[in-house]
Amino acid sequence: MNNYARIPLLLSMFVFISSTSFAVDFDPDDLGDESNGKNWLTHGRTHSEQRYSPLNQINVDNIANLGLAWSVELPDARHLVSTTLAIDGVLYVTGSFSVVTAIDARTQKVLWRYDPKVVDHAGDTLRVLWGTSRGVGYWDGKIYVGAGDGRLIAVDAKTGEEIWSTMTVEPGSFYYITGAPRTFNGKVIIGNGGTEMGPARGYVTAYDAETGEQAWRFYLVPGNPADGFEDNAMRMAAATWTGEWWKHGGGGNAWNAITFDPEYNHIYIGTGNGSPWNRTIRSPGGGDNLFLCSIVAVDADTGKYKWHYQTVPGETWDFNSAMDIVSVDLKVKSRTIKALMHAPKNGFFYIINRLNGRLLSAKPFAKVTWATEVDMKTGKPIEVEGSRYESGEVLMWPGPLGAHNWQPMSWNPEHQLMYFTVHDIAGYYNDTKIRKADYQASGHTFEAGVSFFDNDVPVDSAINSIVAWDPITQKPAWQVSTPPGWHAGTMATAGNLVFQGLGNGQFIAYQGDTGEKLWEYDAKHGISAPPITFELDEKQLIALPVGWGSGMAMLGGSMGAQHGWIYGGHPRRLLVFALEGQAALPLTPGPRFVKPVDDPAFEIDAELAAAGKDHWVENCAWCHGPAVVASGGAPDLRGSGIVFDSNAFRKIVLEGQRIGRGMPKFPNLDESHLNALRHYIRQEARGALSKKTDVAQAN
Ligand code: CA
Repeated sequence: MNNYARIPLLLSMFVFISSTSFAVDFDPDDLGDESNGKNWLTHGRTHSEQRYSPLNQINVDNIANLGLAWSVELPDARHLVSTTLAIDGVLYVTGSFSVVTAIDARTQKVLWRYDPKVVDHAGDTLRVLWGTSRGVGYWDGKIYVGAGDGRLIAVDAKTGEEIWSTMTVEPGSFYYITGAPRTFNGKVIIGNGGTEMGPARGYVTAYDAETGEQAWRFYLVPGNPADGFEDNAMRMAAATWTGEWWKHGGGGNAWNAITFDPEYNHIYIGTGNGSPWNRTIRSPGGGDNLFLCSIVAVDADTGKYKWHYQTVPGETWDFNSAMDIVSVDLKVKSRTIKALMHAPKNGFFYIINRLNGRLLSAKPFAKVTWATEVDMKTGKPIEVEGSRYESGEVLMWPGPLGAHNWQPMSWNPEHQLMYFTVHDIAGYYNDTKIRKADYQASGHTFEAGVSFFDNDVPVDSAINSIVAWDPITQKPAWQVSTPPGWHAGTMATAGNLVFQGLGNGQFIAYQGDTGEKLWEYDAKHGISAPPITFELDEKQLIALPVGWGSGMAMLGGSMGAQHGWIYGGHPRRLLVFALEGQAALPLTPGPRFVKPVDDPAFEIDAELAAAGKDHWVENCAWCHGPAVVASGGAPDLRGSGIVFDSNAFRKIVLEGQRIGRGMPKFPNLDESHLNALRHYIRQEARGALSKKTDVAQAN
């Protein structure tokens, strides 16, 4: 062998050694190992997404001794909704704009921070909800993050250095990623969101975890038949659509739930609502509109369709099945049922055979008025007349916020109970004002094809609880009321415990089989993320990101604002708890409320204010809140002096002066829109000032 031939050989040896040095510790089977509680390796802890830890060092007998062990400040993380991963003593948390922070749990120091610079990459496509990220994926020494602008990025788990990055969406489109990538068989998979910024057509894509090369893509709704169908599943789905649906995208975007089943080598995809919501626009002749609002099973190696179950045929309410899909071995007498469990927005708890998609049971877990029951012969809901707002406006339960949303649920295999947060809140729908014939979403504004809220959301509009759902009886084993609001996902442990954080900042542990409240900790800021647990040096620890976030912090109105988690007013943190933990929570300001400002000389023009309200609903309400009542996700403009200064207002809204903070440019608006908005904002600020209660709350 001459010297020239030797160089590539040496190089390849070097590459071999370096690329596998981390792999010594990596066993792909660990991601499916329910019995090993050391790590939290994927979004739902293991592939099953049960969020159940076999650790029992912290248990019902000693939970009273649980205390804060340490905390880390996450100053730039505005919305903290992510599931933390714990891998060999390192914690990985995602905050706003998909920034990932790695923390050494031994030294309690930040090891690295990876910022994908979402705002720079997004440019003019920057839109709402991009501040939110529900977490990262892990495979063989790499951490995977979905960036808000649509990139999927692999970074080195040890150093935080970028290894590869691939664009998963059409550049310039309004699709975004908020979900956590999942990993399986050497691949990483991600979907996207954006149905409300339509026209949007949902799909998921699997990539080679090592190289980022695309392995397969599965579309969730059919495109234009004239372009040919990608596969037979799309041909089948197209038969359930009418009109020219492709002009509206169709929707179905998978923005959250994706579950891998190693037993059947399936990927289960939870699909989203229609684009737009209103079926009479996107599919005017009716139809089930597959695969909207469904669980779709595909082959994990090829992405080929296996089966589907549609929870809401002909979706028209922003119902979707993007809520988590939990894979469970359900024991019924001497039999074991290989089941999927799913509690989507529509208020029914589904048990589905995961081999073939057959519906085994569906019963309401919340107040449901849009359907009376699910017909077990057809597998379809029996709808209540008028629910489709076909005879004018309708108020029904649940609504767009869902009886259960993305907040993950957890399963205790010993008690065979599923724990999740239940949110009884109505939805209002009315499409009588919508011009349907020439409807076309612009892609810039939030458009649903139906009016659903114009006004503030009162503090007490929801009835909330945590439920331990017994899937055998399809009834609660126990149910405990929680304060009105919006609460976080749960975690179950072998210590017979279930943990949940609340919007009011309380972190609570219940006894798993009885629902008795055993422990409570005041985190002094809204909790929107689920807790995780892991083991370090033979000690069980519990990690919880604390930082008010998600949709409720954007559009919750007074319901979201009630706790006083004002925009930028409270520190964001990762808290870590242990038995005998004695750490003090760093200094934290108490609740704060916005004080509306007014200029008595400003004369409100009622007509302009009414026009301003329409612009507000389409452009502003999604972050700054309905009726100008912000819930902490963005500034409350009733208290902002900027609105008085037409020059400053224009610079921010039209010219993108605060784009770095996530405030997009609105090229669809002009000076006349701004003027109308100013009249509307002043009207709402003055209205709030005239109400004594709000003034009493102020500061
Ligand atoms: Ca939606």
